[in-house]
Amino acid sequence: MSKVTKIQWCDSTVNPIMGCAGCELYPSPEQVLKAIDHDLISAGIASWKQGMARDFFHRVLREAWQLLLVAVGEPGSGHVNEITTTNIRHLRHRLGAKLAASFGTKAGKIAVAAIESSLSCYAAQLHANRTFNVDKPLRNVKRGYAPTFESVTPFPGRLADAAKWKDLTGVDRSEKPWLDGMPRLTFVSDMGDAFSRKQDFGFLEREILAFQSQDGQRHLWLWLTKRPEKMRQFAESIGGFPPNVCAMTTVTSTKHLGRIAALRAVDASVRGLSLEPLWESVADKIDLTDIDWVIVGGESGAKANVSPFHMEWVHELRDRCHEQGVAFFVKQLGSRPFHNGKELTLVDGHGGDWSEWPIEFCQREMPDYFRNYANLLERSRSRAFVA
Ligand code: SF4
Repeated sequence: MSKVTKIQWCDSTVNPIMGCAGCELYPSPEQVLKAIDHDLISAGIASWKQGMARDFFHRVLREAWQLLLVAVGEPGSGHVNEITTTNIRHLRHRLGAKLAASFGTKAGKIAVAAIESSLSCYAAQLHANRTFNVDKPLRNVKRGYAPTFESVTPFPGRLADAAKWKDLTGVDRSEKPWLDGMPRLTFVSDMGDAFSRKQDFGFLEREILAFQSQDGQRHLWLWLTKRPEKMRQFAESIGGFPPNVCAMTTVTSTKHLGRIAALRAVDASVRGLSLEPLWESVADKIDLTDIDWVIVGGESGAKANVSPFHMEWVHELRDRCHEQGVAFFVKQLGSRPFHNGKELTLVDGHGGDWSEWPIEFCQREMPDYFRNYANLLERSRSRAFVA
């Protein structure tokens, strides 16, 4: 089941919604096809022109769909006869073979590499490996996922179930010392973006009641989105986030720094940034006003497809955070960390095991707000009791 995923840096995860409309880590099909055109033209593939990737992919999809109909008769609920990012991912080797036959092996390889390096969203990858696949129509589909990554799907009751999880306040977690004694920290939405579809507000408004239930209040919930403006609208619609929700957004490069201003406008008691995967230095340009927590990390995935993570960026960010009193947390070094210009070789493919890191990078600070939350809750409960 995918309602929770294994996680190393916090206590647990929960996904009220599975799937996503995409972002810079899972671009639209048009952007992926453009990337193929760009790479083939840049490589000097003779007679390749802008727009040809779409034409060729269209042919590949048509052939695959015919084979699917022969194999299963009726397409499954997640099979779509359209040019989608998921279909491009699933049919990339067929496309590569077609281009290789017409333009040579090099062209085929470039096209496959262009697709694979465009798509680094881990949630999308898990969906792609477990759900409907136009190239493998007979494959079993795992329950608990969106039928296809782009079909954002609500799963009622998951937050209410998660609220019942054991209270970890004061519990020894010496294997994760950064969490020791704190309330349970649950990451919301690591298998999609709950703000992918505005029409889910009604659903989310009902589900979020779990955070403020007697059980849910005992925990802290980290809610991450790449759509902080929609998160702002949602928070406004419910009169502000409950005090145990940390509103968070992701920034991967200077291009997306604007998300921070939108996050600042979210009515929340505590706010955090996830700078992961970080693709370039952002320390000089980042504005940390009203931000309580910064998480940083490198990109993970096949080495050939991920961007390098220069650990100097970590030091720069740490200094900025400490100047401004912001808690700083190094989550993972990713699959291609560089330290002093040299690539590090780590056993953990995500670079998430801090016992392998140079000691100066083992920094996992938590906002004071998280540490004080249990007292805050006790005070508010005793006030309610007295009243
Ligand atoms: S789940 Fe997150 S990383 Fe993946 S496509 Fe959606 S917004 Fe991007």
